[in-house]
Amino acid sequence: MALKVSSMRAFSYNYIWALDKDGTTVCIVDPGDATPVLAAVHAYNLSLSSILVTHHHADHTGGINALLAEFPGTAVYGPKSNKIDSITHPLSEGDILSVAGIDFTVMSVPGHTLDHIAYFAHGDSGDESVRPALLFCGDTLFAGGCGRIFEGNPYMMYKSLEKLASLPGATMVYCAHEYTLGNLRFALHADPYNTDIIERIQQVNDVLNAGIPTVPSMLSVELRTNPFLRCHTKGVRNAVTEKMALSADSSEIDVFAALRRWKDGFSV
Ligand SMILES: [Zn+2]
Repeated sequence: MALKVSSMRAFSYNYIWALDKDGTTVCIVDPGDATPVLAAVHAYNLSLSSILVTHHHADHTGGINALLAEFPGTAVYGPKSNKIDSITHPLSEGDILSVAGIDFTVMSVPGHTLDHIAYFAHGDSGDESVRPALLFCGDTLFAGGCGRIFEGNPYMMYKSLEKLASLPGATMVYCAHEYTLGNLRFALHADPYNTDIIERIQQVNDVLNAGIPTVPSMLSVELRTNPFLRCHTKGVRNAVTEKMALSADSSEIDVFAALRRWKDGFSV
């Protein structure tokens, strides 16, 4: 069977991802709430094979204990962090794990939190289907934006995003929130002459109007339209310099830090 990745909505804007390889067991990514997971698992008569966690925030971990109560012994993969009690397999940069028949490499991507990790799997062209490369990146890279910097500093976050941006362009980016439209509205201010953003906003509006998630997105699209991956471009640098009164010799990281501050105070 080919891998199926499905989304469940939790809270207002969270996505919990389910990876199903064999139609009987699922791997759940960032279960902030057990309710939608248990509803889906019962509806399709599935059991839990494993849980992947990207970072310690409650909207990514709050459902783990309730899932373990129903499925004791489930492997819980997550960052080496003293903030998540239930992790059975602590991970750090470069570790490789196999879930749902896929090998994932762990990437350390601090900035949003210090313990944040992402899971990357290379694409696969098997006999049954062609599977693109997959990235589960929690609250680090969003469609059209990036997470807030709560525990790290702009340098860390910039380096983490740079790492993700170096993955293959055809990578499907599974982030944890439906923030795409708001992010792209801000992106138009931060990168005002980028017509790809205008086009993407139209597509995203159509997708949302059809009741479909805008996530996953493709990394190559993020590279063209996500201002947080475009601090090296003249367009973003000029807009940020003007808005945030940066000096002309500001570094790319200064531009990124100011862009993040601008977004923190921006409302659409
Ligand atoms: Zn978070």
